[in-house]
Amino acid sequence: MTNGELAELFALSAEKSTGNLQKALRRASRMALTWECEASDLAETTELTALEGVGPHLERLITGWLDEDLPVPSPDPLRSGFLTRTEVRRILSARPGLAVQGDLQSHTTYSDGGMSVSELAAQAEAQGFRYQAVTDHSKGLKIAGGMDEEELARQGHEIDDVNERYADSGFRLLKSLEMNLSVAGEGDMEPDSLKGLDLVLGSFHSKLRIKEDQTDRYRAALANPYVHVLGHPQGRMYNFRAGLTADWSRVFAEATRLGKAVEVDAFPDRQDLRVDLLRIAVDEGTTISIGSDTHWPGQLRFVDFGLAAAIEAGVPEDKILNLMDTESLLAWAEQLRDLHDYVSP
Ligand SMILES: [Zn+2]
Repeated sequence: MTNGELAELFALSAEKSTGNLQKALRRASRMALTWECEASDLAETTELTALEGVGPHLERLITGWLDEDLPVPSPDPLRSGFLTRTEVRRILSARPGLAVQGDLQSHTTYSDGGMSVSELAAQAEAQGFRYQAVTDHSKGLKIAGGMDEEELARQGHEIDDVNERYADSGFRLLKSLEMNLSVAGEGDMEPDSLKGLDLVLGSFHSKLRIKEDQTDRYRAALANPYVHVLGHPQGRMYNFRAGLTADWSRVFAEATRLGKAVEVDAFPDRQDLRVDLLRIAVDEGTTISIGSDTHWPGQLRFVDFGLAAAIEAGVPEDKILNLMDTESLLAWAEQLRDLHDYVSP
């Protein structure tokens, strides 16, 4: 029995439970995605309480499931198409030479993250990244403490200071933003404030439960001249929200036509885009951006989930922004700005 199957069994058990037990089961379902090894292997030598999210009660539950070895139903649509850490490791081990040069989504204390700009840089450099995009939320997303123009500028100065400290190592923080988009694809920041940024992600954070086809909404977002990357396109969340639907071929074809990228938000609960949608992006020749969506220390490694999804979907290496070196990545963003009259038309 795989961790993915255990995740599904936890979620199904949660549906039949209440209160704290339900909460613990839901949490374990999420956590199973990130366990470092297969619980079934671990069970032979160690106590399963070593796994994050597993206490004595859930350990007994898992042991029972492993002993019974009953067939596990395929996951509910709310939980399908999520890779587990062990699957990610298997996929990456088949491509040993492949490694990202950097990560293109992260949050600091300027919005809803738990690390300062400086702490984030230290983590990213220690991770072996050449660059780390700092993509705090913009002012329209109040719930996540979005930045206004003034705060964005202040953060820019702080990033300059931090980058100066890393000048010799070659590591660099990229001035970026996860700009909140309206359903009409419009951003919420004064265009002038975006001038000094290296990269702009544009993401939807509202009306994510609409059932109707959202192709036009995506096309509008991609047409926004300030957006380089469409962030977590579907807006899905593991076991919580299925995310939006669209005619993905048309959406990705439009991204390709405009030379823009679509994101794999690699946070394990998101994995958005997922592998089957990435395969459509491959058919349309679309460029992919991978973001760990880091908020707290230790989460930069989530970028692996995105790289594994891209590999699994057959995304060509030259279509993955994170495989570019710093100069090539910045040049890519720069030519988009020129192409779309990004600044002061
Ligand atoms: Zn977001």
